Amino acid sequence: MLVMKFGGTSLGDAAHIGTVASLVRARLDREPALVCSAHAGVTDLLLDGARAAAAGNPDLDRIRRREHDLLTALGLKASLVDPELDELEQMFQGLRLLPAGLAPQVLDQIAAYGERMSVKAVAAYLRKRRIPATAVQADEAGLLTDARYGRASPLPKAYKTLGSAVRKVKGVPVITGFIGRAPDGSVTTLGRSGSDFTATIVGRAVNAEVVLIWTDVSGVLTADPRIVTGALPVEALTYAEASELAYYGAKVIHPATIQPAVEAGIPVRIKNTMDPDAPGTVIGPSRPRGGSKVTSIASKRGIVLVNITSGRMLGQSGFMARGFDAFRDHDDVVDLIATSEGSVTV
Ligand code: ADP
Ligand code: ASP
Ligand code: MG
Repeated sequence: MLVMKFGGTSLGDAAHIGTVASLVRARLDREPALVCSAHAGVTDLLLDGARAAAAGNPDLDRIRRREHDLLTALGLKASLVDPELDELEQMFQGLRLLPAGLAPQVLDQIAAYGERMSVKAVAAYLRKRRIPATAVQADEAGLLTDARYGRASPLPKAYKTLGSAVRKVKGVPVITGFIGRAPDGSVTTLGRSGSDFTATIVGRAVNAEVVLIWTDVSGVLTADPRIVTGALPVEALTYAEASELAYYGAKVIHPATIQPAVEAGIPVRIKNTMDPDAPGTVIGPSRPRGGSKVTSIASKRGIVLVNITSGRMLGQSGFMARGFDAFRDHDDVVDLIATSEGSVTV
């Protein structure tokens, strides 16, 4: 099987979804399974809508319009996602009355609707183009996760259940990215941009030959193109290089994406939906030597720097351990560490 993941921009309007259908048709003999994000902008609309609802202004109009316009442009019935929109409407009304405000659990449940609606639209459109396809809600298909709302990870047993569920699907499975289900049955999300992570989770679950991540750039570039104009595609990256770049801010893939691919030894290729013939970037266990010494440069905003100094640090054992205990107790992730004789900066 082949996993093809399409991001928000690739599913952002009818023309792009048309291209997606052609890309899928051209690969039908390789048994593609699709993983889809929400249409571009919809997750933001949902999260903003939830916050506005909790502040007393429930308003679903923009989301409803965005979904209806897209379905109409695809030549599908606008009412296709009305069940989801009606559920959202009820949740928004409920939020207005909720004194506890917006728990992360509630935000995940609401954010999940972007992908829920997107897979219904994509599967229906593929069928319209005479490609047999079925929408699959990943949480219902066994993508079990821990209960860390907003940044959940799959539980080991998720792979087997999800793999057999996906294999049983009739036609091309069109699977929700981004969402999973905690052991208590509540909806979780894998974090913003989490559909990339879903793609490799599905890849590992079905033991795919390759995971293709279709986006709006021709691969991992030498720098963030929004900051550095003229950044160039990198032909090949090792798993380790791609993980490091993603972790340190290269937004093109979610930081956890590489992990399931490494575990299953599956290559990941980043491809451009708008330029499908461009080779993109292949990510695997090794890459040819040579080329530039610097592979790519990533940057990250919103970093907090903590400087720990103590006059009693010199010659003391256990100082660092006690400091890091504090981060662990607060479930704070430390990205980088620099130490000197008298201070630790994290
Ligand atoms: P998708 O919706 O397909 O998941 P994203 O917006 O999440 O797409 O990721 C693709 C975007 O990542 C690109 O449009 C680009 O602006 C940004 N980006 C940041 N750093 C890099 C990089 N090193 N290489 C390529 N793209 C990058
Ligand atoms: N729709 C989600 C987001 O906007 C997940 C994704 O696009 O990968 O973050
Ligand atoms: Mg993304």
